[in-house]
Amino acid sequence: MAPAALGAAVAESHAWVEEPIAGPWAPSTLIDEPKSRWREPLPAGVDSLAFPHFTGSEFNELFTTAELPNLSPISATPPITESAEMDEQVRAEAIERGYQRRSLPANYALMRLIDDGLALQRPAAAAWLALQQDAADHGFELELNSAYRGHRYQREVFLRPLEAPYELDDLAARLEMSAPPGYSKHHTGYAIDISQEGHYHFGSSPAYEWISADNFANAKKHGWIPSYPPDGGRQGPVPEPWEFTYVGVEAILCFHQPPAGDDPLCSN
Ligand SMILES: [Zn+2]
Repeated sequence: MAPAALGAAVAESHAWVEEPIAGPWAPSTLIDEPKSRWREPLPAGVDSLAFPHFTGSEFNELFTTAELPNLSPISATPPITESAEMDEQVRAEAIERGYQRRSLPANYALMRLIDDGLALQRPAAAAWLALQQDAADHGFELELNSAYRGHRYQREVFLRPLEAPYELDDLAARLEMSAPPGYSKHHTGYAIDISQEGHYHFGSSPAYEWISADNFANAKKHGWIPSYPPDGGRQGPVPEPWEFTYVGVEAILCFHQPPAGDDPLCSN
């Protein structure tokens, strides 16, 4: 997909452009910056570094503990249904399944527009383009299907297959496939849903085989990790092979390092 609107200010309304619950959305303040300047510098010699292996629960911990820039914790969880009481029960079920409250971007002007109304945090935007290019060099055409989502849009996604009046059983069953608003990693602007052109199930596509080989080495190289890995335990939804989260190469390399280790990369 051609990044037609790269760095351009958002003038039209898109599905993801809605006012988040916390903080105003001001599209006119989106900074116009050439794509070439999105890239964060990678650690020296990254191509020759061996990436550590992670279990599913370590991948989850890595995203939760990574110190990602431009995030602001949410002070209140957004409504799900019309009933505050039922919402409380759905949230309790969600937490029981392992969903966690997720932050929103602190400053929306620092987000970057990829294409078709898909926005990501700046380092994730650059890392997505790098991953997509690397995959293309290996013969796989990756598509970006979802990126940043605000609370209102996540609520729509969550309720889409259901009909009002909502039943608790149906809402609880929905948690197998979707986070309720306030609990999606997409809120952070650091999560992507991807697919391979021409393949309906990403988990059985040749591109998935490439990206997941050797404990997801080809994702890690660009700072990405699986969002809901196959052996992730209680992590919210059933495993989602198509979703990846950006944590950055340094966080991946330094996860197992003690805080006062001698590796200069990991000591600051
Ligand atoms: Zn997703």
